[in-house]
Formats: sequence, C-alpha cells, structure tokens
Amino acid sequence: STTGRQEAISAVINYKPLVNAIDLEGETSRSLYGTNVFNDKVMRELLSKPVYKAVQRTIEKGETLDASLADAVASAMKTWALEKGATHFTHVFYPLTSLTAEKHDSFFDPDGAGGTIAQFAGSALIQGEPDASSFPSGGIRSTFEARGYTAWDVTSPAYIYENPNGNTLCIPTAFLSWTGEALDHKTPLLRSMQALNQQASRVLKLFGHSDFGMVTASAGPEQEYFLIDRNFYFARPDLLNAGRTLFGAKPPKGQEFEDHYFGAIPERVLAFMMEAEHEFYKQGIPIKTRHNEVAPGQFEIAPVYESANLGHDHQHIIMLTLQRMAAKYGMACLLHEKPFAGINGSGKHVNWSLGCKLGNLLDPGENPHDNAQFLVFCLATIRAVHKYSTLLRASVASAGNDHRLGANEAPPAIISIFLGEQLEDIFNQLKEGKASSSKTSGTLKIGVDTLPTLPRHAGDRNRTSPFAFTGNRFEFRAVGSNQSIAWPLVVMNCIVADSLDFVATEIEKEMGGDPEKFNDALQTVLSGIATEHSAVVFGGNGYSEDWHEEAAKRGLPNLRNTIDALPALTDPANIAVLGKYGVLSEREVESRYEIWLDRYCLDINTESMLALEIAKTKILPAALTYQSQLSSLAINLKNIGKTPNTTLLDQVIDLTDSLEAGIATLEEVMAHENEGDTLAHATHFRDHVLPAMLKVRTAADALEGVVADELWPLPTFQEMLFIK
Ligand code: ADP
Ligand code: MG
Repeated sequence: STTGRQEAISAVINYKPLVNAIDLEGETSRSLYGTNVFNDKVMRELLSKPVYKAVQRTIEKGETLDASLADAVASAMKTWALEKGATHFTHVFYPLTSLTAEKHDSFFDPDGAGGTIAQFAGSALIQGEPDASSFPSGGIRSTFEARGYTAWDVTSPAYIYENPNGNTLCIPTAFLSWTGEALDHKTPLLRSMQALNQQASRVLKLFGHSDFGMVTASAGPEQEYFLIDRNFYFARPDLLNAGRTLFGAKPPKGQEFEDHYFGAIPERVLAFMMEAEHEFYKQGIPIKTRHNEVAPGQFEIAPVYESANLGHDHQHIIMLTLQRMAAKYGMACLLHEKPFAGINGSGKHVNWSLGCKLGNLLDPGENPHDNAQFLVFCLATIRAVHKYSTLLRASVASAGNDHRLGANEAPPAIISIFLGEQLEDIFNQLKEGKASSSKTSGTLKIGVDTLPTLPRHAGDRNRTSPFAFTGNRFEFRAVGSNQSIAWPLVVMNCIVADSLDFVATEIEKEMGGDPEKFNDALQTVLSGIATEHSAVVFGGNGYSEDWHEEAAKRGLPNLRNTIDALPALTDPANIAVLGKYGVLSEREVESRYEIWLDRYCLDINTESMLALEIAKTKILPAALTYQSQLSSLAINLKNIGKTPNTTLLDQVIDLTDSLEAGIATLEEVMAHENEGDTLAHATHFRDHVLPAMLKVRTAADALEGVVADELWPLPTFQEMLFIK
C-alpha cells in the first residue's frame, strides 16, 4: 500500500509543465490593459454626454448619482458586456466572511415568443437582493428576517470576469441590511473615505486652498503568499481545511540560508505569475512588483497604489485570481498568515496615504510651505495612531495573524510608529518648539520660509515597526495575508479624519477669526501634538525584549493576541470615533465584535477537529505500525538467541504514549460549550484548546523524526517547500 504522501510525490515528479496557449509577452499585455473594465474610456464612448458627466461627477466629486440615469448606464453596460461575451451579471460584494461574494443572474429573459431577449434594467444595476441571513451579521439579521440589499458602487468600475466557459459582468457593490446597517466591508470603507475627505478639506481650506477636488485615501497593498504543489495540498487535510499545517517537523533546511528572498523565480512560478498578471492587466489592476519572499516557497505581488476603495476591490480580485491561477499551474496558493510553523509567515503591507488634485498630502516635498502642510497631515496621523492604537490593533486581529505578530518575523502587537531619523528629529524639534518656541523660532517656525527642506526619503527602513513612514506614505505592516484590507483602511481613514477634525478645530480656535494668526496657531497645534503623542514614536528594534519593557513604561498597549485585542473594539472611545463620523454605529461595531469573536472560535474549533482527526487516523496508525514492526523484529531476534537493541522501540513507545495522552487531553478540552458568553468561549479556545493542540503536535513532530519514512503519511515541510 502507498500513503497519500507517496502518491503526491510521484504525481509531482510526473508534472508536465503547462504549454501556454496565450501570448504573455509584454506588448500584448500592455495593449490589453483595462480592456475588461467599464472604464472612463468606454463610458465616454457609450454614454450620452449628460449621463457621462453625471457619472463623472459622482466618481470625482462624490455627488449622488440620479437614479433615473441608471437605465441609461445599465443599457450601455449591457451592450458592452454582451460584446465581451458575458452571459450573466453579478453584484459582487464583500461580506464579513472577508471573502468575495457573488450571485449570478442571466441577462436573458424569455421574450414571450419562444425566444429570449437580453435585459438589464437600471434597477438591476442599482440594487440587488441577496439573502442577508446566510452571511455573518452578528445578530443584525436572523434567519426569519433575511432581507438584505446590494447597492451599486459607482466609484468602482464594473468589469468582466473571464472564464473559458463564459464571461460575467461584475458590478462592485455595498451590502446592507434591510434595516440600513452595513453587513460588509465596503460600506464603512466608503463612509470612512467620505469622512476623511470632509475633514481633510477643512484643513486644506485653512491653508488657503480652494480648488483641490476630493481628498482620497490611497492604498497600495503588498500581498505575500506561498505556492506549493497541488498534490501536496490535497494530501494535507489541515492545509485543505484550515489553510495551515497543524503538524510537521522543522525541515533540515529552512530559511536560515537566506537564499530565497529576491532569488531567481522558479520557472513554473514565473509562468503562473505572468498569466495572473495578464488577467490583472485586462482588469485594469496595475500590478507592478513580483518577487520571491524570505521563506522558501514564498512570494509577493504588489500593484501600484490606487484609491482605497478601488485598491480594496482589486485586492480581492488579486487574492481570488492567485488561487485560481495556481490551480491551473498545478499548485495551491496559500494565503494563510502562518502555513508552516518555524518558517516566516505571510502578511500584507498596506501602504496608505491621502491625496487630492494638489498631490500626495504625505509627500514631504521641497517647498517649505508644503512642508508645513505635510507636517499637519503627518502629525495628524501620528496622533490618530497613538490615540486609537487599540482600534488599529483590533483591526488586524485574527486567529491566523496571532501566529505572526510578535513572532520575530513580523512587527510586535505593540502599535508604534517609525518615522525615520530625519523626520523623528523634526518631530522632536516640534516638541521642543512648544517648550521654548521663542528660542527655536528661527529655524522651525512652521509655515514660514525658513522651514527646513525635508529630504524625500526621510529615513532608513525599519522592518520591525508595525507602522512606518516610508518616504511619502505610511505602511501598516501588521495586516494579515488572508485579511480584507478594508477594515484596517476604515480604521485609518476614520481615526485620521478625527485628528484632522481636531487640528482644524484647534487652529480655528487659536486663530479666533484672524487669518494673520494662522502660522502661529499651526505652530501651537503641531507642537501640542508632538508633545502629547511622542510616546508612540519609536525608531529602535521592535523585535527586542527591551522594547516590550520600554513600551510598557510609555503606556503603549500590548494586546498580544486576538482575544486580548478584539474587546478593544467596544471601548467607548473607539465606538465614539467610529460613530462620530458615521462610519459604523454602535450596533454595527458590536455586531462586528460578535462576528469576529465567533470567527475566532470557528477557526480554532476547525483546527482542533482537524488536529484530532489527523492525529488519530494518520499519525497514530503510522506510529503503531512502526511499533509493531520494531517489536516483531525484537521477538524474532530473541527467538534466534540474539539480544535485541530496543532503544528505538522504547523511544517510539514513549512518543506514541505522549501522542495518545495529548489526544485524550485535546478531546477533553474540546468538549467545551459556548454558554452564551462568546468571549469566555473564545478564551477557552485560546487558553486550553490551542495548548492541547500543541501538545499533540509536539509528540507527532517528534515521531516524524523517528518513524520509518515509507510509513509517514503526511507530505513533509521539505517536500512541500522545496519540490517545485
Ligand atoms: P516595499 O516592498 O519596498 O515596501 P513595494 O514596491 O513592494 O515596496 O510596495 C510599495 C507599495 O506602496 C506599492 O503598492 C506602491 O504603489 C505603494 N505606494 C507608493 N506610494 C504610495 C502612496 N503615496 N500611497 C499609498 N501607497 C503608495
Ligand atoms: Mg513593503
């Protein structure tokens, strides 16, 4: 008999590279850019001038689109989509599962004469009605009150999703309950962008600007992922169902050679990347970067940044497409934060900034006047991150990310900001400025011509910081690879809106209606922020133990895991800031808290059931078989008068005993019920189930090191990570 593992290995060895039918050459890809997007160019062609202008006003200025124009847009969209071979349309939405959801409807209706006619009314474009009770709602929707709506997001263009068997017109939408509460990621994202625009505009007006258009939050998400051969994936029930390996000894060769990062990309992987990019180009996703990441089998893809909303929608397409394309190339794409213990996990660096017609407002620039403006936006962000650090921390909390944050490969769970040497120095000077403003007035009087010119790269890089200024943007690095980027973006936008509100209000107060006092007022407010929020600025090694102590002294929270972090969502200050700008109501926040806590329980519960199943049905039988082989040998040797060496047998017996003991403990702790207190239930998972799983794993991984290779049932780390 052969194990699934052996079958997988032979299948991998016999893999025939895909002979690519499509031309992936650069020229072709470039000419295909955006061809599957109902973009500006298409709309200009297909819409009447007034309709086109109205849609543009919605996209560029945030004006409400007159619903009566929807018929005209729908009709043009239908014509375009049919021409592109689409047979169906779908409202794509982003429920709190953090996956993409879609329900397809055919364009074709019976025409009453035995044939069909293609139909797509404005009403079908504007609104859809999926069943809301089958998605997580945290009590907002229950099965008997199921009504939910999807609402067309005019600001994110519709696109064609191509499939060899038929194309689909995809319309990005927001997803709401019949009662008006958000059930998704997009709704609060759009609300938060609106809030940020409003408050940033106030600040820009104080600087004397009037024609700056809309202030938009931008997002540039870098996605890390693993690729392994698909045959290994299917031979590992843990990967298949939990997205990570729950067993597996550390391979003899891991990442310590540091020979994978930026190394030559293996051929199969490169072909996969190119074809995925080909798809992205057609959908107008500006993919820019691809490279090997630190761990063997780990890679990264990054587009050029876009509006946070579009960047978010595109990020979902990226995750989906990577997984679909991997299958085509005989691989599985793992997006879990920690697929392999002992090997670096995957994150998603979300680069964030805000900009408008005037340019990127976080660009230090060279003009002193711009610098003053830059400092306002920069310090507003620093204040926001300090003041609402627990909210930001909670926005990246998940069972998967718990394995990564603070594990010496990813930033710690302590939220701090890395500014870089020069900017930190300016920050410190600002702090001084408050203490003795007259003395330092010559050099740092904000808003006057003597302000020092900042270099473009205001500092070195620091990989250990969860939140770093990187030249002209902030990079939030604690986001998990599997996560929707929407929620961290929502938090960023909302808390920075709050800080800009604060800045504008304080400056107005200081000025007391006298425009002459603007520079002084600015100086006072900035110095105030620098003084009050300096604790969050940290340029040292975030991985060190010293930092944990220092951070505690500074009063920075260290919410080490999901169960520590999630309750912060419902802190009054956090509920207040989300509510103040209409981003999420208290009921919406509470429902999300409930959903994510529940999700944690579901995740760990699935993992523990898998651990149990694999331990009992795969690992224990292998261990027992080996035990039986060794004991037969011992008996045989004795029978012919030899003294058998039973060292190995004793070791196997010991480890098997530990495994069985571990299984018993795990079964015991898994018998816990949720008695109406989800936090208590989730805490039980963290404090009892996870450690029990680890106990099983420790015995199993030790067995992997002694049991005969031919008996071992699971593909090993070295096989999965190195066989390409
Ligand atoms: P690195 O790995 O060096 O951090 P990458 O090139 O992999 O950088 O990714 C950087 C990401 O930051 C890209 O998505 C890039 O478009 C994005 N980015 C650059 N400028 C900005 C900005 N002003 N706002 C938001 N994102 C930005
Ligand atoms: Mg980066």
